[in-house]
Amino acid sequence: MIVIGGGLAGLSSGVALAEAGLRVRLFELRQHLGGRATSYDLPDGTHVDNCQHVTLGCCTNLDDFFRRTGAASKIRWFDRLYFLDRRGQRGIISAAPLPAPLHLAPALARFPSLRWEDRRAILRALRAIVRHGGPPPDAHDVTMLDWLRRHRQPPGAVERFWRVVLVSALNEELDRASARYGTDVFWKAFLAHREGFRMGVPSVPLAELYTGCRRAIERAGGEIRTRAAVRKLEVEHGRIVGARFDNGELATADFYIAAVPHDALLALLPEAVVERHAELAGLRRLQVSPITGVHLLYDRPVMREPFLTLLDRTVQWIFNKTLLYGAPATQKEGEQYLQLVVSASYDLLARSRQQIVELACAELAEVLPATHTARLLKSTVVKEAAATFSPTPEADRWRVGPATDIPNLLLAGDWTATGWPGTMEGAVRSGYRAAEVILARCGQPRSLLRADLPAEGLAAFFSRTSRNRQKESS
Ligand SMILES: Cc1cc2nc3c(=O)[nH]c(=O)nc-3n(C[C@H](O)[C@H](O)[C@H](O)COP(=O)(O)OP(=O)(O)OC[C@H]3O[C@@H](n4cnc5c(N)ncnc54)[C@H](O)[C@@H]3O)c2cc1C
Repeated sequence: MIVIGGGLAGLSSGVALAEAGLRVRLFELRQHLGGRATSYDLPDGTHVDNCQHVTLGCCTNLDDFFRRTGAASKIRWFDRLYFLDRRGQRGIISAAPLPAPLHLAPALARFPSLRWEDRRAILRALRAIVRHGGPPPDAHDVTMLDWLRRHRQPPGAVERFWRVVLVSALNEELDRASARYGTDVFWKAFLAHREGFRMGVPSVPLAELYTGCRRAIERAGGEIRTRAAVRKLEVEHGRIVGARFDNGELATADFYIAAVPHDALLALLPEAVVERHAELAGLRRLQVSPITGVHLLYDRPVMREPFLTLLDRTVQWIFNKTLLYGAPATQKEGEQYLQLVVSASYDLLARSRQQIVELACAELAEVLPATHTARLLKSTVVKEAAATFSPTPEADRWRVGPATDIPNLLLAGDWTATGWPGTMEGAVRSGYRAAEVILARCGQPRSLLRADLPAEGLAAFFSRTSRNRQKESS
């Protein structure tokens, strides 16, 4: 078994196959495992995450993967989400002792940045999602913004509620993201189950989450090779016959899982093969969206909370890395390291790093008064122009996999047809699905994919009723 790519998709498929007793050889281009969800050393020796990564309670497969590989204890869970608006008002979202989907209703009612008409409109739209036990039929094939307009959401509700959650969750603006994805996020994270919205933040640098993967693969006689870039997948008579490296070496196996980003997959396959397979050629139509991370080191503490979500600003999240995973070795006692995240950061792509740092510091000065007197010791900007695929209403037409028309080639990656946006959960799901196909073809069928958190309370009732209605109408 050959797996190309040591991101979450490749690692989850490799570990699952190794646990089933198969010999896996995993090849990763870079020095570290983890792909986009990794960390690395800067030239000055600082170890930084390739942007903050968080998970949610509804990410059941990622949770399963971290448990299998011994990384679950490295995730710190938070039951409270903190928000700060332009007027300095702080809101907290936490669950009341009520059954789903009512558990967050009191927090929404108290949320200081919304007006009563905003709250009423939001409840009306959330009811439409609950009534259908997930994305309502009118959410298919439209953008989230169109859906919100259809459900008469005032500008305050759009800007200070829907946009705040969805731009980060989908890494896309509301006028480009599909309402199917947007309403699904609300159903799975905020409505179906009381635990869905809990936020998990790694308490170690990201690369340290994957140490158990190597052990699992090697235990079954396999290997992980880093700094091993596959140059080409060789195809003969409609099958993959080997993975060719720059040095000419050819690695061969019965099955190949390509767990690389979709543009990298297209580069791995001969052009003629891509042209012959419409599903592969269609991947050229899949769009991508950017994320920008800003790392700031201050000479003293400027923030008390573990993280803050900002409303009405370019900066969407501030993570207090010193509090979340302790001071790294290169950081002196008393200094504080913050990481800021801007999802769907189209407007920042053309700006210089200096301009981005200035913008970020100006916004921080308004929300964290302690930054006025603190000295900024160091700053780094990481722009990822193709951070994730863009979950537009058309995206599902181009998302494919895990199986392809090439019988021994399986696809994995957050961009494959998982139904999820470009997330770590989507990547692990894709890895498990590719492994399931291989195991079935090897005569060892087994189910690896974990179910979503089950709808509970009133949410379960509505979900069941909606399913029954759908069955009757079909
Ligand atoms: C800045 C940023 C912030 C994010 N924040 C979050 C978040 O908070 N929560 C969340 O759930 N998701 C987040 N994501 C998305 C998440 O990182 C991805 O969805 C997930 O990591 C994708 O995993 P993957 O395995 O599908 O792809 P990748 O992580 O891209 O892995 C593919 C691997 O293949 C390797 N590769 C490519 N070509 C070759 C080759 N020719 N030979 C060998 N190896 C090759 C690459 O080096 C890479 O390691 C974020 C992404 C970014 C960029």
